[in-house]
Amino acid sequence: PGHGPARPGKRRLGVMGGTFDPIHHGHLVAASEVAAQFQLDEVVFVPTGQPWQKSHRLVSPAEDRYLMTVIATAENPQFSVSRIDIDRGGPTYTVDTLRDLRALNPDTDLFFITGADALAQLLTWRDSEELFSLAHFIGVTRPGHHLSNPGLPEGGVSLVEVPALAISSTDCRARVAKGDPIWYMVPDGVVRYIDKRELYRGE
Ligand code: ATP
Ligand code: MG
Repeated sequence: PGHGPARPGKRRLGVMGGTFDPIHHGHLVAASEVAAQFQLDEVVFVPTGQPWQKSHRLVSPAEDRYLMTVIATAENPQFSVSRIDIDRGGPTYTVDTLRDLRALNPDTDLFFITGADALAQLLTWRDSEELFSLAHFIGVTRPGHHLSNPGLPEGGVSLVEVPALAISSTDCRARVAKGDPIWYMVPDGVVRYIDKRELYRGE
């Protein structure tokens, strides 16, 4: 990393969308592994606005989720964070994320990275047919979820095995609420930020 494009030709940009409430090492390992396997020049993490799938629970303020994502990725020269979904406002639809990233990144191939659980729901996402014209989709393994192509166009999706980390944001939040440690599940700076902002304590 840090020495320019790994290969000649179009720039290759990975896109890791998520609520990141909080970001954890499962997200980071998945992004790192896909970046290596697909020779990506960069992976941009895109925290959601108020996510429609999760409207049944309170999601932490977007600024907190954004800052935790910045803290977690700051040291990696290949990782960046985008505010596009947060600044657009309202619920996030991946089709909008990809349309906007396309416009902002001409001459770039987009690779949307998604865990096995989210991939299984892809067909229920808004404008799912258009998604495949905007990006190549990469489904990654996730403990507790079966990774398979849920009937998506063959060429539009790759399935990739990544090192298994049985970590979820839901579990991290529950642990903080119980007073259990989340050290080594999320980056140290994120542990400290959660503590400083007193996130997840009352859940
Ligand atoms: P929550 O429990 O709140 O849903 P989460 O841990 O699933 O949080 P998200 O922000 O919902 O995290 O996930 C963002 C993306 O990262 C999704 O595509 C999800 O499938 C993927 N992902 C999350 N955790 C892992 C993991 N441990 N291994 C591989 N992929 C993961
Ligand atoms: Mg999730």
